Amino acid sequence: MFDNLSLKLDRAFKTLKGTGTITEINVATTVKEIRRALIDADVNYKVAKEVTDTIKTEALGRDVLIAVSPGQLLIKITQEELTKLMGGKKEDIKISGDPSIILISGLQGSGKTTFTGKLGAHLKKQGRQVLLVACDIYRPAAIDQLKVLGEQIGVEVYAEPENKNALEIANNAIAYAKKTGKKTVVVDTAGRLAVDEVMMSEIEALKKALNPSETLFVVDSMTGQDAVNTAKTFDERLNFDGVVLTKLDGDTRGGAAISIRHVVNKPIKFISTGEKMEDLDVFHPDRMAQRILGMGDVISLVERAQQSFDEDEAKRINSKIRSNNFNFDDFLSQLEQVKKMGNIKDLLGMIPGMGKAMKGLDIDDDSFKPIEAIIRSMTPAEREQPDIIDGNRRKRLAAGSGRTIVEVNNLMKQFADMRKMMKQMNKMGGAKAAMSKML
Ligand code: GDP
Repeated sequence: MFDNLSLKLDRAFKTLKGTGTITEINVATTVKEIRRALIDADVNYKVAKEVTDTIKTEALGRDVLIAVSPGQLLIKITQEELTKLMGGKKEDIKISGDPSIILISGLQGSGKTTFTGKLGAHLKKQGRQVLLVACDIYRPAAIDQLKVLGEQIGVEVYAEPENKNALEIANNAIAYAKKTGKKTVVVDTAGRLAVDEVMMSEIEALKKALNPSETLFVVDSMTGQDAVNTAKTFDERLNFDGVVLTKLDGDTRGGAAISIRHVVNKPIKFISTGEKMEDLDVFHPDRMAQRILGMGDVISLVERAQQSFDEDEAKRINSKIRSNNFNFDDFLSQLEQVKKMGNIKDLLGMIPGMGKAMKGLDIDDDSFKPIEAIIRSMTPAEREQPDIIDGNRRKRLAAGSGRTIVEVNNLMKQFADMRKMMKQMNKMGGAKAAMSKML
């Protein structure tokens, strides 16, 4: 996400490195480069110009503190302006009414059905009783797709595969939700390949009849400026409440994310960064601005970890680490937990500086496969007491897992290093505890 933009902005700020003061001339050069980077990232020209003009005025108006370099100051101002541009602060979806209805709109292929599932999982985690409704009457596969997702996340899906009247299905679903005590209903609607009149009238009628507390517009961020134009067209007809940007994992330009809020004046509420149900984040303009500037987004990373990690398991692992008993079973369980958190590359991108370091690197869930294969070839005794894994056993593990002996040796070395580090950490923790007792 935003890899290229981050790199170019980084380069723009570098032009200010070394200069001790902010002057009209050096700011002008940097700001011009920032503008070019934004436009290259597919940010609407007018928006890019407006924001960089503001950055320039702000930069020239501020005193440079001795502690910060002009480059750092400009990064800070750019971060503030990007945050403002993307809406300033996080905006939640409105949930009210009995049941509360959330209507999902967008073009076909934008990721509506996938998002409906993700939103279901998100709302369920908040402790809500949710019903998903399959109202995509033109694409029978969408009904099955939603049913599969519903099963996966443990949320009920209402569908009437034979019925071709979306409004009727929705009304029946609401009656069903009332009967079964579901307080939140998410309605997935039909999309088209291009904006067309029949579809617009249909969803307009749906919105009028259902009176949802929240109407979301789902848009594929990879479609660039088209995304902005489609958003405009939908907003004119639906007056939606919020935007969901999808496929930000595949989008290295990301300009739509930056300009959509400014152009339609509706907040972005969620971003989707992959096909898995976990790949959903609540949109925070400030965190996104930090990510764009390559500053990482540790808060979102921690939030994902909190949502995905099993607390009891974390406690168990912690005590194993403290007693220097961390073994391969624990390692495997940790890998599983990390994988549950979603797209690995995207997660690494949330760590400050990692986005840049990872450019061109190909990391995905499959990267863990060799390690998993080797560990799974171990006997329970070997997993529990890694020290017994001698040369002969290593050869057997390589043959058993279909990996090379070098890979097995590397894993053993990494594991040994990891245990050594854990031991040292324990010692340091012990020393700290002893110190605090003495004081
Ligand atoms: P709909 O026609 O709007 O309901 O779109 P779908 O939900 O069927 O999504 C279309 C395709 O995009 C599917 O193959 C999804 O798996 C994929 N998709 C949806 N969201 C994302 C995302 O955030 N990232 C990626 N990489 N793929 C996505």
